[in-house]
Amino acid sequence: MPFRASLVTLYPEMFPGPLGVSLAGKALARGDWSLDTTHIREFGEGRHRMVDDTPSGGSAGMVLRADVLARAIDAASPEGDTRPRLLMSPRGRPLDQRLVRELAAGEGAVIVCGRFEGVDERVIEGRGLTEVSIGDYVLSGGEMAALVLLDAVVRLLPGVMGNAASGETESFEGGLLEHPHYTRPAVWEGREIPAVLSSGDHGAVERWRRDQAERLTAERRPDLLRRR
Ligand code: SAH
Repeated sequence: MPFRASLVTLYPEMFPGPLGVSLAGKALARGDWSLDTTHIREFGEGRHRMVDDTPSGGSAGMVLRADVLARAIDAASPEGDTRPRLLMSPRGRPLDQRLVRELAAGEGAVIVCGRFEGVDERVIEGRGLTEVSIGDYVLSGGEMAALVLLDAVVRLLPGVMGNAASGETESFEGGLLEHPHYTRPAVWEGREIPAVLSSGDHGAVERWRRDQAERLTAERRPDLLRRR
């Protein structure tokens, strides 16, 4: 079974959005992965299909109701569904290439997109949601975060990018940032391509790339080197 993404959202029209074009879009059309949406509004309360309410204890904003959201999650992911259930959330496990690989190796994901001030805490526990963050900043909703996560996952799926995405030298794959890239023309605005890249000496090219990756990582992301 190809990777299946189920989005639980108040804005289903945001999907597949940018994932409907380019390689991800072609792969989606081919059936190399699939995407479905569950509209939280359809599970809302009363004639107005209310999905949110004021925060208990008081404060600004609104909170997505546990009962409403749970009904939507249960519709998207009935009992027996073994896919991981994620909640996009700034409090979550930081998304990194390791988590992306874990997800890409699985059967798919159920992804809950928060809105307003977030979701009632009880639904996180009650439905076993794993919170995932795409970075230390606050978005207005989980939809764009879900698109980011899925873009990173889908490009690793079999058939989506050929072997271009499997390269061991890509940023983060070896715990390093990637080396610089060059292509024709050989001279551009007086700037030349590093001579070693035209030397035909594959060993030397590999060593140069490795050195560059280590230099860039030390300069820009020393935290990655410490973690290796
Ligand atoms: N009050 C919350 C922020 C709510 S933002 C807090 O301070 O933690 C509204 C929704 O946007 C969240 O429920 C979440 O689904 C999504 N969101 C915002 N920032 C995000 C991030 N960095 N990563 C993933 N999802 C995010």
